[in-house]
Amino acid sequence: MFTEAALRELLEYRSKAPLLSVYLNLDPSQGNMDAIRLHLRNMLREVNLPADEQRIWEYVDHGREWKGRSLAIFSCAPEDFFRAYAFGVPLRSRYFVGQQPYVKPIAHLLDDYGHYGIVLVDKQQARPFFFHLGELQELEEFQGEEVRHVKRGGASTFPGRRGGTAGRTDYEEEVVERNMKGAAAHVVRIFEPLRPRRLLLGGTEENVNLFRKSLPKALQSLIVGTFAMSLNANRAEVLEKALEIGQRAEQQREVELVEQMITAAAKGERGVVRLDETLEAVHAGRVQTLIVRDGYRAPGYQCQGCGYLTAQALETCPFCGASFQQIPDAVELVVRKVLESGGEVEIVSGVPTLEPLKIGGLLRY
Ligand SMILES: [Zn+2]
Repeated sequence: MFTEAALRELLEYRSKAPLLSVYLNLDPSQGNMDAIRLHLRNMLREVNLPADEQRIWEYVDHGREWKGRSLAIFSCAPEDFFRAYAFGVPLRSRYFVGQQPYVKPIAHLLDDYGHYGIVLVDKQQARPFFFHLGELQELEEFQGEEVRHVKRGGASTFPGRRGGTAGRTDYEEEVVERNMKGAAAHVVRIFEPLRPRRLLLGGTEENVNLFRKSLPKALQSLIVGTFAMSLNANRAEVLEKALEIGQRAEQQREVELVEQMITAAAKGERGVVRLDETLEAVHAGRVQTLIVRDGYRAPGYQCQGCGYLTAQALETCPFCGASFQQIPDAVELVVRKVLESGGEVEIVSGVPTLEPLKIGGLLRY
């Protein structure tokens, strides 16, 4: 399991030699293993760092690491630095060469898919899970007292007392209450070392509400969602639900990011939208976060003198006077430029407000 310590190590690592970061999407939607290997081969060929390439193939050919839905590899052969991590969530395939590991995709993964506590509850039992970066771990379950149905009219029942649920006796309610308290205490203990940052509760609305009320305030405040699910749901069902909720968090983050960019651009403060303005801002070194619609490609012109990129055909470069060359895709070049200058790149899909703009950025100043 990928840990905070691993992330810290990557964040702090600085190399003197070129360090290669490779992300490989292993999701079946990317094609079969042969197609994915071919993609990796093409990426590594572009990179042209033979010692790292060899190291990566040794690792990948080991085979058992192909399990997850994506792979992140960081390699700097001259410094004998090599780290590889598999994730249960797909990550876009890409590479980057720099003086430090490119970890932004993992940081986002932690934001969206990291540290979820999940509890399925009914009136008698609770099944806690821990979901982290696409991996689901089932934890020790709680077994309470059996909730027996006692016929109404028994000695312990006073009609109308405590506003009991129709058809249920006080005795039953007491057992349920004890079970909920026991389940809550169990969950507190089980989650203590794992420190979930968010909590999801699954069950009927009634049971989820009863359980929620039994939890201490600190855990109650972590609840970010509830859903209907049988206590006896299988692992695959729970995993699917958790992935769905992670995906929603991811989508939400992207929507907010695009919104922030559009607002900033409209006010003329630290934001640009559309290719022209974005290319200009990148050239001026002002783009902190480049935001690109997934799959966006656009031809452009590059100055053969200073490398200035533009979407418009110009006679001579306004910066150095050299002439321009047409290039098939300015977007890929600009992505690389931003990364190399220490900025961030967000490839966003399914955000309607980005559709007409395609590209933009948040600015440093
Ligand atoms: Zn120029």
